[in-house]
Formats: sequence, structure tokens, C-alpha cells
Amino acid sequence: MALPWLAGLDDGRDARLQALAARFLQQKTITPVGDLRLDQQQRCQLAALCCLPLLEFGENGLHGWSQLIVYPGAFRVHRSHVDAAGVLHEGSDELIGEAWDAGPVILSWADVQADCADPRAGFCVAAHEIAHKLDVLDGVLDGTPPLPRPWQREWARDFQQAFDAFATQIEHGGEAVIDPYAAEAPEEFFAVATEYHFSDPATLRGAMPAVAAHLVRLYGEPPFAPAPL
Ligand SMILES: [Zn+2]
Repeated sequence: MALPWLAGLDDGRDARLQALAARFLQQKTITPVGDLRLDQQQRCQLAALCCLPLLEFGENGLHGWSQLIVYPGAFRVHRSHVDAAGVLHEGSDELIGEAWDAGPVILSWADVQADCADPRAGFCVAAHEIAHKLDVLDGVLDGTPPLPRPWQREWARDFQQAFDAFATQIEHGGEAVIDPYAAEAPEEFFAVATEYHFSDPATLRGAMPAVAAHLVRLYGEPPFAPAPL
């Protein structure tokens, strides 16, 4: 698995990512499940991918959890888990990623590989789950990560507006400019928008310029150059 996102980083960001990934590998246990085996290179790539959203935020973004569980593919989770405190599910029963508020991040290896094989398709499950981890750093999973206060106010206002407009559009059967899963809740809206920042920033910018601008401020410029017009 090669990480297509790395090619677009300048030397400064590349060095920061290497340092973050090294810290990630020190702090976190990567646990493959079932028949899955991950060699050292694959572990390094997973660490780099998970740290990509932390390039500007820094290593404080790694706080609060210690385990990355990697399933070979999509995994099944019982619906009853939804009721347990702080457990987040993606989709219904068949999940490709999951983040517990004080627990592990869980990823499907097959889906991580699919994201890397088609990095501009608007999907990046690792970035999605890390966005949840950033979101919950302040103890509340609400679509707003901890930010300096004036920025947090602007963020909350702009995201709420964009989320409401998008949810209304989906509710009325309108065309979904980004993955309709974003309409589930404000925290999913943030996580899905994060996927677009890294994999299809032009679509996000065209559809939701205020949201796109906040994400550029949080994550830095998308590693891919904007698609030519
Ligand atoms: Zn999610």
C-alpha cells in the first residue's frame, strides 16, 4: 500500500508527518484481527495516514486513545452497541470504521487500501475516524473540535448552517453534493467533510466554501493540488 497523499507534501510537512507517525507508533498498539498480518511498512503507512489530519493540529491530536484495531475487511457490529455510552457506529451493522470516545479506532484494511487505490474519490475512512478523535478531545462529540475560542464560534456557526442546509436538501430528496451520510448528525458531517478535504477538496470547496476554508485552517492545504478547472 503506497500512500498517495504523501507525494503532495512539501519537505516541511513531510518531516512533521514522519515525526507524528513515529510518535503514533510509540504510543499506539496496532492490532490486526483474524488472519490479517501487517508488516512494519504497513504499520508505518497506517500511522502516517492516521497522522495526516494532525499535521497542523500537532501531537495533542493523538491524546485519549491507545489502540488501532484493523479488521481484514468490513466488520459486523451488533446494533445494541449503539446504546452503550460513547460508542459511535458507521452505517448500520456492517462497518468499515469506528471510533470509541475513550477507546480504540477500528478500521477495515480493505477499505483503507481502497481509499489509497482511488485517493480522489471522496473517501478516506482513516481521516474520518481521526476527525471523530479530534472532535471528542474536548469531551463532546458534536462536530466541533477544540479550537481557540473566536475560531470555535465561527466554526460552530458555519458548520451548523452548512449542516442544516445539507440535511434539509437530503430530506427533500435533493441531490447529495457530498456523501449523504453527512446528514446523519453534525459529527458525521464534520467527519465526512474531512474525507472530502483529503480526497476531493474541489467538490467540498464548490459545495460548502465556508466549511472547506475551516478545514484548510485545521488541516492545512489538501495534499493534492486543486483539480484544474
Ligand atoms: Zn463517523
